[in-house]
Amino acid sequence: MAKWIQGTVVDNIHWTENLFSLKIDADVDNFTAGQFTSLALDIGGKRIARPYSYLSSPGQRPLEFFFYTATDGILSNALVNLELGDPVWVKQKSNGFFVLNEVPESEELWMLGTGTGVAPFFSILNTDEPWIRFKHIILVHAVRTKSDLRYQELVDSLRHKYSGRFSFQAFVSRETVPGTIRGRIPITIEDGQLEEHVGRRLHINKSHIMLCGNPDMVKDSVEVLKSRDFIKNRRRTPGHITIENYW
Ligand SMILES: Cc1cc2nc3c(=O)[nH]c(=O)nc-3n(C[C@H](O)[C@H](O)[C@H](O)COP(=O)(O)OP(=O)(O)OC[C@H]3O[C@@H](n4cnc5c(N)ncnc54)[C@H](O)[C@@H]3O)c2cc1C
Repeated sequence: MAKWIQGTVVDNIHWTENLFSLKIDADVDNFTAGQFTSLALDIGGKRIARPYSYLSSPGQRPLEFFFYTATDGILSNALVNLELGDPVWVKQKSNGFFVLNEVPESEELWMLGTGTGVAPFFSILNTDEPWIRFKHIILVHAVRTKSDLRYQELVDSLRHKYSGRFSFQAFVSRETVPGTIRGRIPITIEDGQLEEHVGRRLHINKSHIMLCGNPDMVKDSVEVLKSRDFIKNRRRTPGHITIENYW
Protein backbone atom coordinates (compact mmCIF):
# COMPACT_ATOMS: atom_id res chain seq x y z
CA MET A 1 0.00 0.00 0.00
CA ALA A 2 1.34 3.42 -0.97
CA LYS A 3 2.54 5.48 1.93
CA TRP A 4 0.78 8.56 3.35
CA ILE A 5 2.98 11.53 4.04
CA GLN A 6 2.00 14.61 5.97
CA GLY A 7 1.79 17.75 3.88
CA THR A 8 1.23 21.33 5.01
CA VAL A 9 -1.27 23.76 3.54
CA VAL A 10 0.54 26.86 2.30
CA ASP A 11 -2.44 28.52 0.60
CA ASN A 12 -6.18 28.04 0.37
CA ILE A 13 -7.79 30.19 -2.30
CA HIS A 14 -11.59 30.45 -2.16
CA TRP A 15 -12.57 31.35 -5.72
CA THR A 16 -16.36 31.06 -5.41
CA GLU A 17 -18.92 29.50 -3.08
CA ASN A 18 -17.98 26.03 -4.35
CA LEU A 19 -14.58 26.31 -5.94
CA PHE A 20 -11.26 26.51 -4.17
CA SER A 21 -7.61 25.61 -4.63
CA LEU A 22 -5.10 24.29 -2.14
CA LYS A 23 -1.37 24.74 -2.36
CA ILE A 24 0.41 22.10 -0.35
CA ASP A 25 4.00 21.48 0.64
CA ALA A 26 4.66 17.75 0.67
CA ASP A 27 7.63 15.62 -0.23
CA VAL A 28 5.86 13.42 -2.79
CA ASP A 29 7.56 11.17 -5.33
CA ASN A 30 7.93 12.36 -8.91
CA PHE A 31 4.75 12.08 -10.93
CA THR A 32 3.78 12.39 -14.57
CA ALA A 33 1.64 15.34 -15.71
CA GLY A 34 -2.01 14.23 -15.81
CA GLN A 35 -1.75 11.85 -12.87
CA PHE A 36 -3.60 12.04 -9.57
CA THR A 37 -2.67 11.38 -5.98
CA SER A 38 -4.92 10.93 -2.95
CA LEU A 39 -5.51 13.50 -0.25
CA ALA A 40 -6.96 12.62 3.13
CA LEU A 41 -8.00 14.03 6.47
CA ASP A 42 -8.72 12.18 9.68
CA ILE A 43 -12.37 12.92 10.36
CA GLY A 44 -14.23 11.40 13.32
CA GLY A 45 -11.41 8.93 13.92
CA LYS A 46 -11.42 7.71 10.29
CA ARG A 47 -9.05 8.55 7.47
CA ILE A 48 -11.20 9.88 4.64
CA ALA A 49 -9.32 9.79 1.34
CA ARG A 50 -10.22 10.74 -2.23
CA PRO A 51 -8.26 10.93 -5.48
CA TYR A 52 -7.29 14.39 -6.80
CA SER A 53 -5.53 15.31 -10.04
CA TYR A 54 -2.47 17.47 -9.83
CA LEU A 55 -3.00 20.90 -11.36
CA SER A 56 0.65 21.71 -10.80
CA SER A 57 3.23 20.22 -13.14
CA PRO A 58 5.93 17.76 -12.12
CA GLY A 59 8.72 19.55 -10.30
CA GLN A 60 6.54 22.56 -9.52
CA ARG A 61 6.30 23.47 -5.83
CA PRO A 62 4.09 23.91 -3.89
CA LEU A 63 1.76 21.21 -5.19
CA GLU A 64 -1.56 22.63 -6.38
CA PHE A 65 -5.06 21.14 -6.53
CA PHE A 66 -8.38 22.58 -7.73
CA PHE A 67 -11.55 21.54 -5.89
CA TYR A 68 -15.31 21.60 -6.07
CA THR A 69 -17.16 21.43 -2.76
CA ALA A 70 -19.57 18.60 -3.47
CA THR A 71 -23.03 18.84 -1.93
CA ASP A 72 -22.82 16.90 1.36
CA GLY A 73 -19.35 15.73 0.31
CA ILE A 74 -17.36 14.79 3.39
CA LEU A 75 -13.82 15.41 2.25
CA SER A 76 -14.23 18.40 -0.05
CA ASN A 77 -16.21 20.26 2.63
CA ALA A 78 -13.45 19.59 5.15
CA LEU A 79 -10.60 20.50 2.80
CA VAL A 80 -12.20 23.86 2.02
CA ASN A 81 -11.85 24.86 5.70
CA LEU A 82 -8.13 24.12 5.96
CA GLU A 83 -5.99 27.04 6.99
CA LEU A 84 -2.36 27.94 6.39
CA GLY A 85 -0.10 25.59 8.32
CA ASP A 86 -2.76 22.87 8.69
CA PRO A 87 -1.66 19.30 8.02
CA VAL A 88 -3.15 17.21 5.21
CA TRP A 89 -2.32 13.64 4.22
CA VAL A 90 -0.95 13.14 0.71
CA LYS A 91 -0.18 9.79 -0.92
CA GLN A 92 3.50 9.74 -1.70
CA LYS A 93 3.05 7.87 -4.98
CA SER A 94 0.73 9.10 -7.71
CA ASN A 95 -1.41 7.04 -10.05
CA GLY A 96 -3.25 7.12 -13.30
CA PHE A 97 -3.03 6.67 -17.05
CA PHE A 98 -4.46 10.03 -18.09
CA VAL A 99 -0.99 10.98 -19.32
CA LEU A 100 0.62 11.73 -22.67
CA ASN A 101 2.64 8.48 -22.58
CA GLU A 102 -0.67 6.74 -23.19
CA VAL A 103 -1.67 8.99 -26.09
CA PRO A 104 -0.61 7.81 -29.56
CA GLU A 105 0.90 10.13 -32.13
CA SER A 106 -1.48 12.64 -33.64
CA GLU A 107 -1.32 16.11 -35.10
CA GLU A 108 -3.60 17.91 -32.69
CA LEU A 109 -4.76 17.35 -29.16
CA TRP A 110 -8.23 18.32 -27.92
CA MET A 111 -8.54 18.58 -24.12
CA LEU A 112 -12.15 18.73 -22.99
CA GLY A 113 -12.85 19.23 -19.28
CA THR A 114 -15.75 20.13 -17.04
CA GLY A 115 -15.30 22.11 -13.80
CA THR A 116 -12.27 20.97 -11.86
CA GLY A 117 -11.61 18.45 -14.64
CA VAL A 118 -9.28 20.98 -16.27
CA ALA A 119 -6.69 20.37 -13.56
CA PRO A 120 -4.73 17.57 -15.29
CA PHE A 121 -4.77 19.55 -18.54
CA PHE A 122 -3.01 22.50 -16.93
CA SER A 123 -0.48 20.11 -15.42
CA ILE A 124 0.21 18.67 -18.89
CA LEU A 125 0.12 22.01 -20.75
CA ASN A 126 2.73 23.53 -18.49
CA THR A 127 5.26 20.89 -19.48
CA ASP A 128 7.23 20.86 -22.76
CA GLU A 129 6.03 17.48 -24.01
CA PRO A 130 2.68 18.41 -25.58
CA TRP A 131 4.30 21.31 -27.42
CA ILE A 132 6.99 19.04 -28.81
CA ARG A 133 4.49 16.38 -29.86
CA PHE A 134 1.42 18.22 -31.16
CA LYS A 135 1.13 20.92 -33.79
CA HIS A 136 -1.99 22.40 -32.24
CA ILE A 137 -3.72 22.06 -28.86
CA ILE A 138 -7.31 22.97 -28.07
CA LEU A 139 -8.37 23.37 -24.44
CA VAL A 140 -12.11 23.39 -23.69
CA HIS A 141 -13.39 24.26 -20.22
CA ALA A 142 -17.09 23.85 -19.42
CA VAL A 143 -18.50 25.54 -16.32
CA ARG A 144 -21.85 26.76 -14.99
CA THR A 145 -21.22 30.47 -14.48
CA LYS A 146 -18.61 32.96 -15.66
CA SER A 147 -17.12 33.16 -12.16
CA ASP A 148 -16.38 29.41 -12.34
CA LEU A 149 -13.90 30.06 -15.16
CA ARG A 150 -10.76 30.06 -13.04
CA TYR A 151 -7.09 29.88 -14.04
CA GLN A 152 -7.61 32.27 -16.95
CA GLU A 153 -4.14 33.66 -16.26
CA LEU A 154 -2.72 30.23 -17.12
CA VAL A 155 -4.78 30.20 -20.32
CA ASP A 156 -3.48 33.68 -21.18
CA SER A 157 0.12 32.70 -20.54
CA LEU A 158 -0.25 29.62 -22.79
CA ARG A 159 -1.82 31.79 -25.51
CA HIS A 160 1.06 34.17 -25.26
CA LYS A 161 3.77 31.51 -25.15
CA TYR A 162 2.34 29.26 -27.89
CA SER A 163 0.68 31.88 -30.05
CA GLY A 164 -1.00 30.32 -33.11
CA ARG A 165 -0.70 26.78 -31.73
CA PHE A 166 -3.13 27.01 -28.81
CA SER A 167 -6.90 27.55 -28.81
CA PHE A 168 -9.13 27.95 -25.79
CA GLN A 169 -12.92 27.63 -25.77
CA ALA A 170 -15.08 28.16 -22.71
CA PHE A 171 -18.58 26.81 -22.18
CA VAL A 172 -20.82 28.58 -19.65
CA SER A 173 -24.07 26.68 -19.18
CA ARG A 174 -26.11 29.04 -16.99
CA GLU A 175 -25.22 32.46 -18.33
CA THR A 176 -24.83 34.08 -21.70
CA VAL A 177 -21.24 35.26 -21.88
CA PRO A 178 -19.75 36.72 -25.07
CA GLY A 179 -17.14 34.46 -26.67
CA THR A 180 -18.31 31.39 -24.75
CA ILE A 181 -20.68 28.64 -25.83
CA ARG A 182 -23.88 28.20 -23.85
CA GLY A 183 -24.52 24.49 -23.99
CA ARG A 184 -23.14 21.05 -23.33
CA ILE A 185 -19.96 19.76 -24.89
CA PRO A 186 -21.46 16.56 -26.44
CA ILE A 187 -24.30 18.39 -28.19
CA THR A 188 -21.92 20.92 -29.68
CA ILE A 189 -19.66 18.15 -30.97
CA GLU A 190 -22.73 16.59 -32.57
CA ASP A 191 -24.04 19.75 -34.21
CA GLY A 192 -20.61 21.05 -35.23
CA GLN A 193 -20.82 24.17 -33.06
CA LEU A 194 -17.66 23.40 -31.10
CA GLU A 195 -15.57 22.98 -34.24
CA GLU A 196 -17.09 26.10 -35.74
CA HIS A 197 -16.21 28.17 -32.66
CA VAL A 198 -12.68 26.79 -32.45
CA GLY A 199 -12.18 27.04 -36.21
CA ARG A 200 -10.77 23.52 -36.48
CA ARG A 201 -12.25 20.20 -37.45
CA LEU A 202 -12.05 16.98 -35.46
CA HIS A 203 -10.60 14.37 -37.78
CA ILE A 204 -9.78 10.70 -37.10
CA ASN A 205 -6.50 10.96 -38.97
CA LYS A 206 -5.20 13.89 -37.00
CA SER A 207 -7.06 14.50 -33.73
CA HIS A 208 -6.75 12.91 -30.31
CA ILE A 209 -9.33 13.81 -27.68
CA MET A 210 -8.83 13.74 -23.92
CA LEU A 211 -11.99 14.02 -21.79
CA CYS A 212 -12.01 14.69 -18.05
CA GLY A 213 -14.51 15.42 -15.31
CA ASN A 214 -18.24 14.85 -15.23
CA PRO A 215 -18.95 11.23 -16.27
CA ASP A 216 -22.11 12.26 -18.18
CA MET A 217 -20.10 14.64 -20.33
CA VAL A 218 -17.48 11.94 -20.86
CA LYS A 219 -19.98 9.21 -21.74
CA ASP A 220 -22.11 11.37 -24.04
CA SER A 221 -19.08 12.84 -25.81
CA VAL A 222 -17.64 9.36 -26.37
CA GLU A 223 -20.96 8.26 -27.90
CA VAL A 224 -21.05 11.21 -30.28
CA LEU A 225 -17.40 10.74 -31.22
CA LYS A 226 -17.94 7.02 -31.82
CA SER A 227 -20.68 7.88 -34.29
CA ARG A 228 -17.97 9.78 -36.19
CA ASP A 229 -15.67 6.70 -36.14
CA PHE A 230 -13.40 7.82 -33.31
CA ILE A 231 -12.53 4.94 -31.00
CA LYS A 232 -11.46 4.68 -27.38
CA ASN A 233 -7.74 4.59 -26.80
CA ARG A 234 -6.62 1.40 -25.10
CA ARG A 235 -3.12 0.07 -24.49
CA ARG A 236 -3.69 -2.92 -26.78
CA THR A 237 -5.76 -1.07 -29.34
CA PRO A 238 -4.64 2.54 -29.65
CA GLY A 239 -7.46 4.92 -30.49
CA HIS A 240 -8.47 8.56 -30.45
CA ILE A 241 -10.25 9.06 -27.11
CA THR A 242 -8.58 9.01 -23.67
CA ILE A 243 -10.81 9.53 -20.63
CA GLU A 244 -10.79 10.26 -16.90
CA ASN A 245 -14.06 10.15 -14.94
CA TYR A 246 -14.13 12.09 -11.65
CA TRP A 247 -17.00 10.12 -10.14
C1 LIG B 1 -8.99 10.24 -10.82
C2 LIG B 1 -9.81 11.27 -10.08
C3 LIG B 1 -9.31 12.57 -9.96
C4 LIG B 1 -10.09 13.53 -9.29
N1 LIG B 1 -9.62 14.81 -9.23
C5 LIG B 1 -10.38 15.78 -8.66
C6 LIG B 1 -9.93 17.14 -8.64
O1 LIG B 1 -8.83 17.47 -9.11
N2 LIG B 1 -10.76 18.05 -8.06
C7 LIG B 1 -11.98 17.72 -7.52
O2 LIG B 1 -12.68 18.61 -7.01
N3 LIG B 1 -12.40 16.44 -7.53
C8 LIG B 1 -11.64 15.47 -8.07
N4 LIG B 1 -12.07 14.18 -8.05
C9 LIG B 1 -13.28 13.85 -7.27
C10 LIG B 1 -12.85 13.65 -5.79
O3 LIG B 1 -12.11 12.45 -5.68
C11 LIG B 1 -14.04 13.54 -4.83
O4 LIG B 1 -15.00 12.66 -5.36
C12 LIG B 1 -14.72 14.87 -4.57
O5 LIG B 1 -13.82 15.82 -3.99
C13 LIG B 1 -15.91 14.72 -3.63
O6 LIG B 1 -15.50 14.12 -2.43
P1 LIG B 1 -16.40 14.29 -1.13
O7 LIG B 1 -15.90 13.37 -0.06
O8 LIG B 1 -16.50 15.73 -0.76
O9 LIG B 1 -17.84 13.84 -1.62
P2 LIG B 1 -18.35 12.42 -2.11
O10 LIG B 1 -19.39 11.99 -1.17
O11 LIG B 1 -17.20 11.51 -2.36
O12 LIG B 1 -18.98 12.81 -3.52
C14 LIG B 1 -20.26 13.37 -3.64
C15 LIG B 1 -20.66 13.61 -5.06
O13 LIG B 1 -20.08 14.82 -5.51
C16 LIG B 1 -20.02 14.85 -6.92
N5 LIG B 1 -18.64 15.22 -7.29
C17 LIG B 1 -17.49 14.59 -6.93
N6 LIG B 1 -16.43 15.25 -7.43
C18 LIG B 1 -16.90 16.32 -8.09
C19 LIG B 1 -16.29 17.37 -8.82
N7 LIG B 1 -14.96 17.46 -8.96
N8 LIG B 1 -17.08 18.31 -9.38
C20 LIG B 1 -18.43 18.23 -9.27
N9 LIG B 1 -19.08 17.25 -8.60
C21 LIG B 1 -18.33 16.31 -8.01
C22 LIG B 1 -20.43 13.45 -7.39
O14 LIG B 1 -21.79 13.49 -7.75
C23 LIG B 1 -20.23 12.62 -6.14
O15 LIG B 1 -21.03 11.48 -6.16
C24 LIG B 1 -11.33 13.20 -8.71
C25 LIG B 1 -11.80 11.88 -8.83
C26 LIG B 1 -11.06 10.95 -9.51
C27 LIG B 1 -11.60 9.53 -9.64
